[in-house]
Amino acid sequence: MSHGTDEASGPDSQGLSCPSAQPDMDGARVFGVITGTPDAPRIAYLKREAVVTRAVMAKLGPVQPTQVFRFAARCEEARCAHFDGERCMLAQRIVAKLNPVVDAVPPCLIRPTCRWYAEQGADACYRCPQVVTMIPRANDRLNEAALPTGAERRAAGDAGD
Ligand code: SF4
Repeated sequence: MSHGTDEASGPDSQGLSCPSAQPDMDGARVFGVITGTPDAPRIAYLKREAVVTRAVMAKLGPVQPTQVFRFAARCEEARCAHFDGERCMLAQRIVAKLNPVVDAVPPCLIRPTCRWYAEQGADACYRCPQVVTMIPRANDRLNEAALPTGAERRAAGDAGD
């Protein structure tokens, strides 16, 4: 799809990765393991690319892979509810609504292609370790950051507000 190529949208919008991906998305790979507690999750960033095989997934049983791992995959841009045509609004909300949880950028394998980093810089990385793709219901702050605002939904053509 065609989208703006202005420099403000990142070094090269083509080929950027989503750092909150589902395991079945194009090019999905694990870059972090979820630690901490349901109310205060933390990501342990992998130092090396990990291959999560179907056998490993099968061993998880009823646990969803996104409850154990953070996945990165190719950003789906217009096919994603968080993409406004140029930028990831999820990354913008995370920076606006969540407090930093680290004071140095974590070592992260996907930084060279991460859309959140490309658009929000280190401010995204200071908040990223608390982000999980499958958010526990009780985690109000994360749920609030994850949901598109009414204005964003209207801009995307969803009148159900
Ligand atoms: S926001 Fe930063 S820490 Fe999080 S995935 Fe992107 S580069 Fe890694």
